[in-house]
Amino acid sequence: MINSVMNKLFTKKLTIYQLGNPQLREKAEPITNVQDPKIQKLIDEMLFTLRESRGVGLAAPQIGRSLQLIIIASHPNNRYPHAPLMEPTAMINPRIVSHTEETEKGWEGCLSVPMIRGLVPRYRQITVEYCDRQGNQQVKELDGFVARIFQHEYDHLEGKVFLDRVESNLDLVSESEYYRNNQTNPKDI
Ligand SMILES: [Zn+2]
Repeated sequence: MINSVMNKLFTKKLTIYQLGNPQLREKAEPITNVQDPKIQKLIDEMLFTLRESRGVGLAAPQIGRSLQLIIIASHPNNRYPHAPLMEPTAMINPRIVSHTEETEKGWEGCLSVPMIRGLVPRYRQITVEYCDRQGNQQVKELDGFVARIFQHEYDHLEGKVFLDRVESNLDLVSESEYYRNNQTNPKDI
């Protein structure tokens, strides 16, 4: 309890860079020392920022740090009511080791691209490798929505946003239109 209060007092919500900022288009650098207190602090600040923004994922370039660090934090909320629940996870120097050929289209939004949702094709299942915040190398199999979040955040490290992945402008909708349609199509994420 005291820890969470202290965390709230001393962790600040970071500014999320918006589409058009050239930093969102840069390739991120690998992190060499996970134990560096500056990196640990950055992870805490990103976790805090993501929680406050009600997002399910965040990549360091989105807060103006060109580093290979992403947070995946799938949970059901207003933005994504059908998202599975998981412990927020920091992934350092992540990469996709392998993926199924099969892709599926699903709705995505982005904290750096407000008011827009897009239908984005992603691999259904991927095997990923990353270093966790304790410095341990991890290999995980991800599928469905969590695999989608990973691919979305990984793209940020490559200087890409989800708009680059939609197959047609017809697959882009305003957020208000998305929510209106979503009520009649509860399978959408
Ligand atoms: Zn994004």
